[in-house]
Amino acid sequence: MPGLAQLKELLAHPRRIVITTHHKPDGDAMGSSLGLYNYLIQHGHHVQVITPTDYPDFLAWLPGNGDVIIYEDHIEQSKEFVDKAEIIFCLDFNNLSRINDLGEVVRAGSAVKVMIDHHLEPEDFDDYRHWDINAAATAQLVYDLIVHKFDDGEFVNPDVATCLYTGIMTDSASFKLPNTTSNVHRIAADLIDLGAVNWRIHELVYNNLSENKLRFLGYCLSNKLEVLYEYNTAIISVSRQELQQFEVMTGDTEGIVNYGLSIAGIRLAAFIVERKDRVKLSLRSKGEFPANEICKKYFNGGGHRNAAGGHSNDSLEKVIEQFKSILPEYKTLLIA
Ligand code: 5GP
Ligand code: MN
Repeated sequence: MPGLAQLKELLAHPRRIVITTHHKPDGDAMGSSLGLYNYLIQHGHHVQVITPTDYPDFLAWLPGNGDVIIYEDHIEQSKEFVDKAEIIFCLDFNNLSRINDLGEVVRAGSAVKVMIDHHLEPEDFDDYRHWDINAAATAQLVYDLIVHKFDDGEFVNPDVATCLYTGIMTDSASFKLPNTTSNVHRIAADLIDLGAVNWRIHELVYNNLSENKLRFLGYCLSNKLEVLYEYNTAIISVSRQELQQFEVMTGDTEGIVNYGLSIAGIRLAAFIVERKDRVKLSLRSKGEFPANEICKKYFNGGGHRNAAGGHSNDSLEKVIEQFKSILPEYKTLLIA
């Protein structure tokens, strides 16, 4: 695989570029994508960000958001962008199945494909790769690409800095996950110096809840939380009917899984939700516990050791039962 210096050469002339990221994009997916977008447009490239699906409203203030198109809502237009693209950047995912039907469109496209990502076990679909599982966020890798690999730090303007700060802040759970190294703090400090208004970004992302979301969270915590102390595991599960009852929107369930983990002694937390087409699981763990292994082995998913996800076509009740039945296998790790 050619090195990133060659990618820089490829970008020496204005190109038609598509940036895409995983379905149900989170803060890092959108922050890294729009950070890269705001960088590339300064060099005269024609850049289109395409997300496979919609994403939470609390990310809609990000600079450049108005130029994003959603594949599900604009299939033909998206296909045309991909077909005409010379370069496609794939951010915050490393397997084309993570972008749903858009995956095969991207695979079939003749564009040069660039993967920038920090998840385990990348699929081999790319021509260039900036991949590091130790990175706290894909946004951190975009920063590294621009500043160090491309030696182009002067183009980290306030819009780029704002997007990248958002990605790092959200994927490190506000600078508190174990991957928050001193270097991550240094990059965050640089981004603040370059125009990211850190307190405002926190406000916009975290103090931007709808009343419904807060009430739904309260309902989950008081009515739906199940704590299995013999396995140091907490489960919150919600049905489709409950989602409808609280008019839960995209993004409204994000972060709920973390409350389970905030109970003293709990090592593993699960949030299991009955979505329209399938049951989705989010797992979070502390320390060495491999949440991603459970998702990969049993729930068609994967992710990081401490934050992973997956899905199942079984009923909600069955998935909850299956999840509970797996815990004895991990008992030693959970109670050690
Ligand atoms: P979340 O629980 O927030 O949806 O996802 C947590 C982490 O697990 C994310 O880093 C995400 O990349 C990963 N993840 C979530 N769902 C899936 C999935 O279906 N497949 C894979 N491979 N990873 C997933
Ligand atoms: Mn990420």
